Amino acid sequence: MEKARFYAPDDGGVCCLLCPHHCFIKEGGRGKCGSRECREGHLFALSYGKPCSIAIDPVEKKPLNRFLPGTFCLSLSCTGCNLSCRWCQNSSISQVKAGEVEEMRLSPEEVVEICLGRGLPSIAYTYTEPLTWWEYMYDIAVLAHEHGLKNILVSAAYVEKEPLLSLLPYVDAANIDIKAMDESIYRKWCGASLSPVLDNIIAMKDAGVHLELTNLLVTGVNDSSEMISRLCEWLSENGFLATPLHFSRFFPRYRMKDSSTTPVKTLAMAREIALSYGIKDVLLGNI
Ligand code: SF4
Ligand code: SF4
Repeated sequence: MEKARFYAPDDGGVCCLLCPHHCFIKEGGRGKCGSRECREGHLFALSYGKPCSIAIDPVEKKPLNRFLPGTFCLSLSCTGCNLSCRWCQNSSISQVKAGEVEEMRLSPEEVVEICLGRGLPSIAYTYTEPLTWWEYMYDIAVLAHEHGLKNILVSAAYVEKEPLLSLLPYVDAANIDIKAMDESIYRKWCGASLSPVLDNIIAMKDAGVHLELTNLLVTGVNDSSEMISRLCEWLSENGFLATPLHFSRFFPRYRMKDSSTTPVKTLAMAREIALSYGIKDVLLGNI
């Protein structure tokens, strides 16, 4: 069992310091993400070496359109997420606890061997929230660099500064999903908060990571022209005019099955708004 990094003893249990939730976890309990457990006063990363999903994807599917275009990547995922978006498209693996779905056994060495054996140039940590299986991702990412492979992070970027900065030297590209430029949407619909996400996006840009951003336009939640304008305004004011921005179409899923698919005209409107703010590279996804 792999001991977690980033925690401290706290009042008969532990406090996990990996993400801003700072879960207090009693003996035998788990944090919100379902994959970190306290045993005998220590925190353990339960899904280390146990991916629940592995596939080969075009890199454009991450989505990354300006990083190694035309290539394929090894996509890897373990269970768990520290957000709880009601529209999650991968809830069957993100909103379950470690051990609740079928898991493989793959060491970091074996993951890198698969990637090299298939002639793939990159590994994508994706589908769920890879930052909640930080230890496994980190160990693979270090090894991947030693073998000349690139690492791709697909994430909502809700993580503490220290683990993020420790990981960034090994991250070559990232697609970060910004849910909305609105604190109340983060709280009500995703169980998280906005400001750490924005700080982390800036930290990634400053670290020289190839960054692309995604905004899933969810019907009736974040698809108003005012909400889209707020996002574009923040991007233009914070030096992201050259960062590719993906507006993605929502399909009813998980706890929003009664909602409706994003109309294509809403995506077109979002694109027009982004261009009017001077964002240079605006892409529409899931259409
Ligand atoms: S990573 Fe998981 S256990 Fe740790 S603070 Fe975040 S939600 Fe809680
Ligand atoms: S951050 Fe992504 S994986 Fe996690 S709940 Fe939200 S949509 Fe699902």
